[in-house]
Amino acid sequence: MTEHFDLLSIGGGSGGLATARRAARHGARSAVIEGARLGGTCVNVGCVPKKVMWNASSLAWGLRHAADYGFRLDGSFRLDWSDLRRRRDDYIERLNSIYLHNLEREGVTLIRGYARFVDERTVEVEGRCYSADHIVIATGGRPRRPDVPGGELAIDSDGFFALDRQPHKVAVVGAGYIAVELCGVLHHLGSDTTLVLRKDKPLRGFDEMLRDGFMEAAQADSLHVVTGFDTARLERASDGSIALYSKDGRCLDGYEVVIWAVGREPNTDSLGLENAGVEVNPDGSIPTDPFQQTNVPGIYAIGDIASKWQLTPVAIAAGRRLADRLFGGMEGRRLVYENIPTVVFSHPPIGTVGMTEEEARARYGDAVRIYTSRFIAMDYALSADKRRTLMKLVCVGPEEKVVGAHILGPHADEMLQGFAVAVRMGATKRDFDDTVAIHPTSAEEMVTMV
Ligand SMILES: Cc1cc2nc3c(=O)[nH]c(=O)nc-3n(C[C@H](O)[C@H](O)[C@H](O)COP(=O)(O)OP(=O)(O)OC[C@H]3O[C@@H](n4cnc5c(N)ncnc54)[C@H](O)[C@@H]3O)c2cc1C
Repeated sequence: MTEHFDLLSIGGGSGGLATARRAARHGARSAVIEGARLGGTCVNVGCVPKKVMWNASSLAWGLRHAADYGFRLDGSFRLDWSDLRRRRDDYIERLNSIYLHNLEREGVTLIRGYARFVDERTVEVEGRCYSADHIVIATGGRPRRPDVPGGELAIDSDGFFALDRQPHKVAVVGAGYIAVELCGVLHHLGSDTTLVLRKDKPLRGFDEMLRDGFMEAAQADSLHVVTGFDTARLERASDGSIALYSKDGRCLDGYEVVIWAVGREPNTDSLGLENAGVEVNPDGSIPTDPFQQTNVPGIYAIGDIASKWQLTPVAIAAGRRLADRLFGGMEGRRLVYENIPTVVFSHPPIGTVGMTEEEARARYGDAVRIYTSRFIAMDYALSADKRRTLMKLVCVGPEEKVVGAHILGPHADEMLQGFAVAVRMGATKRDFDDTVAIHPTSAEEMVTMV
């Protein structure tokens, strides 16, 4: 017998949960299908454990700089990796239970198992069939693993979170934000860490000031960054360590752990999409219209499988707006994929929203005006470490509308959210200038640039 719902979310991650819960709040009979742990990538192997590790590595950084403020730590400090991991995993388990409790409280049915389409209104899970008027595909992605000889010797970001002891010497291969974050965490926790880049700098698509700033910070922190290294194969040496060989014959060796952080692939291959007639892009992602609708009426795709903005709040926002439109009577409601703020939890963190200088110049030419600031944050006032915080405002037109804001420096992660509201509301440089500064902070530089 087939059980029928108003809405079925396939995937109990950020997007699927948000959609089903919002639909239930509007009175719809909704269900979530999840084959693994509730919360998806973000809670289990993404944002949450990553942020815990970043917090730990930021503490380590603070301990190293504590002497600048007169603290005497009397020798070295030691990280108990297993203890950190146990506390982190306990926290995640608590979150898993909270997610389950929320579903129960809000009357959303949880169906355990992996879903596969039978037809355009029906899916099968563990031999049972479920149908719905609206089916939302929110199955997220998994780490991509390059198909090179010896590639299986390396772990990926999921494997990083499963490490039961701290690697002494580690290489992180990749140039996206996940590569940058993982190598920063490991380096600041005390592992001998190398970031292996195929090109000359990481974070393609970010403003050039941020990319160069990251390279400067890496140098100041003595993080090894190897550029122009296109990994061709991995080999296990007789002492058990791993060596990486590049296409042009270079070798990096002696690694206890190598981590692939070279992108993610969408989880769409085993969904039986062909049974429902859902079109798929060559890379496996699902094309949608601006309302998250696939080519099949009543089937929608949200989150990492449907957007280049692979971020938890984006998946949640798209899902909630979809449910508002389908069940909340909010006609036309959808997520507009513009001015999406994002943070890279590097050391120091990076915050960015809106257009890069390069994008703005390509679109608006000479109408672009750039304001920058480069200063030593007060965090370093008592330190010999005199690294710079970098800020940039990208403004357009005679009214100098702020179309981009970019920050690299301590607290950029917490600073950006408020500025993102201003950019989204169409604030001008004059609005920034007319806002009274908060002193003494780094953020005040954002409203005092000349
Ligand atoms: C290391 C790392 C760090 C990150 N850090 C951040 C960050 O700091 N900030 C941020 O905003 N984003 C971050 N992200 C990205 C964020 O985790 C994703 O954008 C977000 O989880 C996407 O949500 P989603 O709902 O699309 O998919 P997911 O959260 O991946 O959920 C998909 C769910 O679908 C399930 N599933 C798959 N196939 C099926 C099936 N056939 N049947 C049933 N269930 C199925 C999966 O088990 C999974 O639970 C990070 C990601 C990684 C990997």
